[in-house]
Amino acid sequence: MLPTPSAVLLDLDETLLDTQVGLDAGISAAWLLARESFNGDEERWRSANQTAANRIWSTRGQDWVLGRVQDADLTAMIYADTLSLVGAPTTLAPALASVHGAAVLAAARCYGDAPALLAALSDRQVPVGIVTNGAVSQRDLVTAAAIDVPPHQVVVSAEHGRAKPDPALFDIACAALRVDRTRLWHVGDSLSTDVAGARAAGVSAVWIDRRGRSAAPDGPTPDLTISTLDELVERIGN
Ligand SMILES: [Mg+2]
Repeated sequence: MLPTPSAVLLDLDETLLDTQVGLDAGISAAWLLARESFNGDEERWRSANQTAANRIWSTRGQDWVLGRVQDADLTAMIYADTLSLVGAPTTLAPALASVHGAAVLAAARCYGDAPALLAALSDRQVPVGIVTNGAVSQRDLVTAAAIDVPPHQVVVSAEHGRAKPDPALFDIACAALRVDRTRLWHVGDSLSTDVAGARAAGVSAVWIDRRGRSAAPDGPTPDLTISTLDELVERIGN
């Protein structure tokens, strides 16, 4: 049984933020521009884009997380690869990355259960931080999604060259919030980064399993598993 939290850290992507909505918007916006110069059908384009995204993320994803490549540059790499795959000139890649990025920001939104949790923590004067693996542009998503957490309490891996599950990132968050880790919770959707990182840092690990995946028996073990953030609102009490 977890004690009531003295402070709560939250992962961003797929914990607070519904990232699929933004991604879909970005891909659709890029397609609208690409189809003006690409003589092919949308299905072929999207298939190529998926292949390219998988390829670039597998080779450069960690560079993005550690701040070695900027978000717009990584996105441009994906579109350059997409264009190559469909036999089109790659000169359009930066423009596609630009419209993609703008659409992602315009569509940024939290899951429906996030505002109530943030409001409940605020009402109870429980300090809140965000600990996210990603590029500096993660801050733009926090703002675009109207997540009301002070910027100095948002810890972005790329700004520190360290990423979850490295416990150093949790140390940085504790210092930013000026809290110790007694009764500190970290809530995230990834077993390998959020749960493993929190446990390595001596922080209570709450795993949000929105899709009913269940934890592997030989993997990191959460202290608490929830399927929606509403369950946390009930847990933190009055
Ligand atoms: Mg996540």
